[in-house]
Amino acid sequence: MTLRNYRKDGTAFWNQLLIGPVFDANHQCTHYIGIQQDITLIREQEDLIASQRTHDFLTGSANRQTFEGRLIQACKLSQNGRLPLVVMSVDLDGFRPINDALGHVVGDQLLCAVADRIRGLLTKEDVLARLASDEFAILLTDDGALERGIEQAEKLLELLSQPFELGPHNVHVSASIGIADNKGLTGRAIEMMHHADMAMYEAKRQGRNTWHWYDGSDAQHGADYAQLRHDLMEAITQHQFVLHYQPILAAQSQTVSSYEALIRWQHPRRGLLYPGDFIPLAEQTGQIVAIGQWVLEQAAKDIAAFNQQSAGQQAVTVAVNISPLQFRRQGFYEELKRVLRVSGLAPELLELEVTESVLMMGADRTRGILNEICELGVQVSIDDFGTGYSSFSYLRDLPVHTLKIDRSFISDIPANQRDSALLQGMIQMAHQLSLNVVVEGIETLEQYEFMRQHGADYLQGFYFARPAPLTW
Ligand code: C2E
Ligand code: MG
Ligand code: MG
Repeated sequence: MTLRNYRKDGTAFWNQLLIGPVFDANHQCTHYIGIQQDITLIREQEDLIASQRTHDFLTGSANRQTFEGRLIQACKLSQNGRLPLVVMSVDLDGFRPINDALGHVVGDQLLCAVADRIRGLLTKEDVLARLASDEFAILLTDDGALERGIEQAEKLLELLSQPFELGPHNVHVSASIGIADNKGLTGRAIEMMHHADMAMYEAKRQGRNTWHWYDGSDAQHGADYAQLRHDLMEAITQHQFVLHYQPILAAQSQTVSSYEALIRWQHPRRGLLYPGDFIPLAEQTGQIVAIGQWVLEQAAKDIAAFNQQSAGQQAVTVAVNISPLQFRRQGFYEELKRVLRVSGLAPELLELEVTESVLMMGADRTRGILNEICELGVQVSIDDFGTGYSSFSYLRDLPVHTLKIDRSFISDIPANQRDSALLQGMIQMAHQLSLNVVVEGIETLEQYEFMRQHGADYLQGFYFARPAPLTW
């Protein structure tokens, strides 16, 4: 019996077994008998298993082992660092909230779509890998690798800024990109990957949606980032968070109508930290949900007590920032009801500040949540209005009460005529839609006068008061 080689015949693979010759009565061989077996399925499974050893099953790009292998090989060929090599570490910003809010199927679709966009930028020689959940790595090995590193990073950020249409969802995502080259390294693949990671953490620290090229100081920053992540876990249980409050005033009467609760972290070693230092990280790790719950309950209790102390005066509202992950989480409505119950705060004295990105994520679900909130009697405002996607259809369709115009529009007022025109346009539009307008970031008398004259309903900013602990 002879086993013949596999032969590809059209789409099928065949296994041919030669059984042997057949003789006639004169002992002459007249023909041979063989068995042909369709082994397409077996062969496909073998290929799949082989590919899973080297590739990421979801996106089809290389996996970590393959990437490291290719990098080690490239380092060997680079003649002790004389030929340029570039490693890029690409980590999506805010992937986890999307995955949690829209489900793993949409999360997987997003990862595939991101991999496709990255692939579209690369040459055949470049290597793309998915190293972990939303972490990609790219290896550039050609002569122009150093120049291409920045170019690719810029193009990638631009490409990712276009929304992803995933079924009914219009998903926005960005990335933080760390870039490292092999200058001064004598073929240390692992070190290059580590440098690219450190640079990526630095890009996150700089506010995300950006790239950063590794320089020696990033190693310390990367270690700080890991430490902060660890410290954040203890912050709630150790009661290290505090709330400061900033008043929001009625523009005409200059009386305080509400207070915005702004979180601070009394870090045991680093002193008072501001939201920009830890909220992005907390959003990334999902810890923002627990932190947000604490803020909501504490703020409601504080303002309920404040109003009780100042009985006889006009009761003030409290505005609480709600992160997208917290807002879209199952059980948020129940949580809200619980907070109102335990704090005794009247629902109309609670206002939730959400950003435009929350409203853009899955219109139906968002509408459902907003309707429930409205039925409770709680108010909703759109924070930092004008900096997000500003799709006006949600203003028409969704039950929101207030627009908070971002302070970037105010900083050059009244000198900057374009900003003045934009501000006036936004205020008019909001009023036509029966929405209140809060303008944040008022720092000067001139800005205050300008906004009052142009019809802003409420004002907030350092000109009136900085955020501070609530006193009564
Ligand atoms: P935001 O909600 O837009 O809050 C207003 C920010 O602008 C505050 O910064 C406030 O201190 C600052 N600000 C107010 N008036 C002025 C002004 O006149 N000039 C300037 N230059 N700045 C002014 P802060 O406290 O650092 O908070 C930054 C952001 O962090 C907040 O922006 C909000 O998005 C987020 N954040 C704060 N607390 C929480 C929280 O409890 N939960 C969540 N999810 N996010 C929070
Ligand atoms: Mg706010
Ligand atoms: Mg704001």
